[in-house]
Amino acid sequence: MVQVTPGRPRRIGLMGGTFDPIHLGHLRAAEEIYWAFELDQIIFIPAARPAHKDTEKVVSALHRYEMVSLATVFAPYFTVSSIELRRPGRSYSVETVRELLKIYGEGTTLYFIMGVDAFLEIPTWKDAQDLFSLVQVIVTARPGWRLDQVEVSLTPELRKMLGEPQFKYLKISEITAEIARQFTPGLVLLVEVASLDISSHEIRQLVEEGRSIRFLVPDTVAAYMAKNRLYQKRKR
Ligand code: ATP
Ligand code: MG
Repeated sequence: MVQVTPGRPRRIGLMGGTFDPIHLGHLRAAEEIYWAFELDQIIFIPAARPAHKDTEKVVSALHRYEMVSLATVFAPYFTVSSIELRRPGRSYSVETVRELLKIYGEGTTLYFIMGVDAFLEIPTWKDAQDLFSLVQVIVTARPGWRLDQVEVSLTPELRKMLGEPQFKYLKISEITAEIARQFTPGLVLLVEVASLDISSHEIRQLVEEGRSIRFLVPDTVAAYMAKNRLYQKRKR
């Protein structure tokens, strides 16, 4: 359930991903955005059948959903949604956003949070331009990518495909209440969060090699992975 102050519009963050598995990089980025943008809640949305990944190689959606639940257990303002798990076919963010806007109705602003690597893939997303008009897009930093170079690196074709968005580059400390509360369709906020150099890919590899993943994922997630023998090398 979303906790809201009566009379105040709802402000909900959405963080989609494969979360195979969820790690502290995801959680820290979400934490910083939650506080800076004075959100009511952030909903983590595991993709059932990620549109851009080989689903054969991804662990089951139920395991990934469970891990997100366990990872967010200590943060009352983080929740997990099974919305993409319940929908047949590939998982497209634009469909999820349309569904959520119908559920929450007027007076709700959705803040769509994604890492810079995901943003740069957006031209391949379904109805990207529509998505940009429905939500406040927040792009967060990630090691290996220059957030302040995103705007200049977009080709004119890409800009057109995204509906000629405007960009605003911000450090967390520069986010005022006024910026946090605005919803400007077509404006992409590039936010310099304290990004951690962690990826799910690296975690899967460490587990396969039998090495430690402590302090890269929450302990609850590490325990779940061990209990269910996720990502371990298959015995032949
Ligand atoms: P993989 O290595 O399997 O691609 P990943 O670590 O990139 O996994 P995803 O589930 O693909 O995780 O990413 C979900 C969202 O979280 C994306 O928007 C991505 O940009 C963002 N993200 C992932 N890792 C980080 C990180 N370390 N810091 C900030 N954002 C991140
Ligand atoms: Mg990724």
